[in-house]
Amino acid sequence: MIILVVNAGSSSLKYQLIDMKDETVIAKGNCDRIGIDGHISHKTSSGKKVEEDCNFPTHAEAFTRLVEALTTGEAAVISSMDEISAVGHRVVQGAETFKETTLVTDEVIDKIEELRELAPVHNHGHALALWACKKIMPNTPQVTVFDTAFHQTIPAKAYMYGLPYEDYETYHVRKYGFHGTSHRFVTSKLAEVMGKNIEDLKIVSCHLGNGSSITAVKGGQSVDTTMGFTPLDGVLMGTRCGAIDPSAVTYVAGKHGFNASEMDSYMNKKSGLLGVSGKSSDFRDITAASEAGDYRANLAKDILVYDIKKDIGAYAAAMNGLDAIIFTGGIGENAPNCREEVCKDMEYLGIKIDEEANNFKGELRKISTPDSKVEVWVIPTNEELLIARDTLAMVNKK
Ligand code: ADP
Repeated sequence: MIILVVNAGSSSLKYQLIDMKDETVIAKGNCDRIGIDGHISHKTSSGKKVEEDCNFPTHAEAFTRLVEALTTGEAAVISSMDEISAVGHRVVQGAETFKETTLVTDEVIDKIEELRELAPVHNHGHALALWACKKIMPNTPQVTVFDTAFHQTIPAKAYMYGLPYEDYETYHVRKYGFHGTSHRFVTSKLAEVMGKNIEDLKIVSCHLGNGSSITAVKGGQSVDTTMGFTPLDGVLMGTRCGAIDPSAVTYVAGKHGFNASEMDSYMNKKSGLLGVSGKSSDFRDITAASEAGDYRANLAKDILVYDIKKDIGAYAAAMNGLDAIIFTGGIGENAPNCREEVCKDMEYLGIKIDEEANNFKGELRKISTPDSKVEVWVIPTNEELLIARDTLAMVNKK
């Protein structure tokens, strides 16, 4: 059975074609610059490639080009879209409406569009891609997998803010949490490699990339997470500030004369590693500059490490214990220095990492010492595979 996984943004449409027989990627690519001009880059598992400038006024033209890339020419991998059994779409914001993976109907797409207010950059792009896909593949089931769904188990005491309750009721202001698909994938993989039942585990999952979030997973359920109403909250990120005193927001906006959207851009695009270091949002550059003695780059790295450390402590308290920590995402999987510094001086919590075992990149590995009470693991995430598995399960259930 072949599943197409689609991850649509406001101006891009990333895709993977996965053969579920052995869960291998047959082809993947990205149609981007939608609404600007257009470009497709497409690659098959055998190394054939398409790189081409296109005209993508909307997601519909991008979807048509994706179909062409998959079915015609040198880099084709299937002869017709009928070979695809179902399409799984990543959706960022499902709010309280979508608590689990959902089979797509017109009403579902309308509702995703309605939730646009809570995720302006993402949900509109998802809805456009869903309509485009439906038009081209009207008889193929489509399934949506929500980043927020995994966090719907978080209790009210953790998701509510100390704002007037009416604004939760009227405007739905609360913590939603994001990266749920990644946290779900790595925590279930961890239970598998530890040979334990996930119901018996208390895990802190650290997804550290351009966007980062830490999640407390108790008995397989998310009980708290650092991202909030939007993906801006929590730890310091590439260009996002993470948690700050809300009064600093109104103060800075006043000083710079920013309106709400300018302030939003300042906190989302000009802050974080980039804002503190003044150099780069990329953790590789930050590490290199810090090693070369750059004070602000080193400080940016220290803030990130300290944020993560505090969240691990907080979540051990929230769960009344801790069995394992997971590092995943671009930084979590590839930056031994970040993992080492986070886990340093955490013996009181029973965390000891093996420096030698930790000195590697990008594969599944245990990095704690044999006598560490808490196991520490690096687990590469694979959100597309989880979306494909959920899609397959949904189609089989039908
Ligand atoms: P996104 O959140 O956009 O999916 P990624 O998960 O790809 O981002 O993570 C990007 C981050 O991972 C960047 O800060 C990048 O510097 C970092 N990263 C990638 N490879 C390495 C590496 N080899 N060493 C250190 N950091 C890395």
